[in-house]
Amino acid sequence: MSRAIPVLPEPRSQEAHEHVKRLRDELYRVRAENPGSGYELDAFVRYMHESALLGLSPTALPQYSPVESDRFFARVVEGPDRHRYWSNNNLVFPLNNGRSQNPRRWWWQHEHDVELTLYDDVTPTCGDRRCIAPWHCQVGRQAARLRYSDEHMLGGLQVLAMRLGHGPSESEWAASGRKPTASNFGLRFGSWTKAIRAAGLTPHGRGRKHA
Ligand SMILES: [Zn+2]
Repeated sequence: MSRAIPVLPEPRSQEAHEHVKRLRDELYRVRAENPGSGYELDAFVRYMHESALLGLSPTALPQYSPVESDRFFARVVEGPDRHRYWSNNNLVFPLNNGRSQNPRRWWWQHEHDVELTLYDDVTPTCGDRRCIAPWHCQVGRQAARLRYSDEHMLGGLQVLAMRLGHGPSESEWAASGRKPTASNFGLRFGSWTKAIRAAGLTPHGRGRKHA
């Protein structure tokens, strides 16, 4: 997205504050008229950018941005191979309730609509330690030790398929004792069937009838 960012009048001046206030009003107007649209995101990014130039802390934003996910996704940066990064080196996302959270953890909970406990770590398994994409992460205390690239996971499916003579089912994968566990394929690729297709194989569900 390329967009010219308007130049701020005199930083920290009364005029500059008025300018940011106008951007905030504009954000509210756009949000009311086109909720969830690209216009809303644009207005939000513009407002955030210029209030940051004014030295307003991002933690001051919750009172202006009741929609937490707006603030969150405005700070997510797309990377290659479906990696996603946090726009800041500090992995901290200020919540609307005044507390803050690791963005990888926030996104995982948002994506899966679950509450994690303090004992659950969210760790990338794609080999990129900066990645926060929920589809590249796994939850668990042991997660840090398990790092599998997409290639490694799909290669494992192909190797087992060659032995079985067909695309393995989830239970065949489990019975083979291979890692990572079948549920990780679902988290990474959307579903077991999608993982099988991503490996260039034909799904061969156990007990399922084929036309
Ligand atoms: Zn990744």
